[in-house]
Amino acid sequence: MTTESDNPCLACGACCAAFRVSFYWGEAEERGLPERLTEPVQRWFACMAGTNQARPRCVALQGEVGGPVACTAYAQRPTPCREVEAGDDKCGQARVIHGLAPLTQVR
Ligand code: SF4
Ligand code: SF4
Repeated sequence: MTTESDNPCLACGACCAAFRVSFYWGEAEERGLPERLTEPVQRWFACMAGTNQARPRCVALQGEVGGPVACTAYAQRPTPCREVEAGDDKCGQARVIHGLAPLTQVR
C-alpha cells in the first residue's frame, strides 16, 4: 500500500488548486475524461473544470489541500497533471501558494 510518507501528494493536492490545468481539447476524449470534469478555454484548448478561475480548484480533487486528498480522475488525468512531479519547481510554487513548505525543505 502506498502511504503518505511514500507519496507526499496523498497529503497535499496543492497543484490541483493553484493553476489553470489546460490541455489540447482532444486529449479529454482520448483519455476518457468525463465532459463534466472539463471546461472549454478557447478553440483548441480545454481545462479541468474549476481551474480557470481566480482561486483554482480542480473539481476532480477530493479532500482539502494539505490533508488527505485523492484525484477522482487519476487514470484519465491530462498531461499537465502527469508532468508535475513532487519536489519540482511547479510543485514548490503550488505548495507555497497554499502555505505549505516546498518539499525540498521538508524532506
Ligand atoms: S504540489 Fe507537489 S506534493 Fe502537492 S500534489 Fe502536487 S506534486 Fe504532489
Ligand atoms: S485531474 Fe486530478 S491530478 Fe489533475 S488537477 Fe484535477 S485532481 Fe489534480
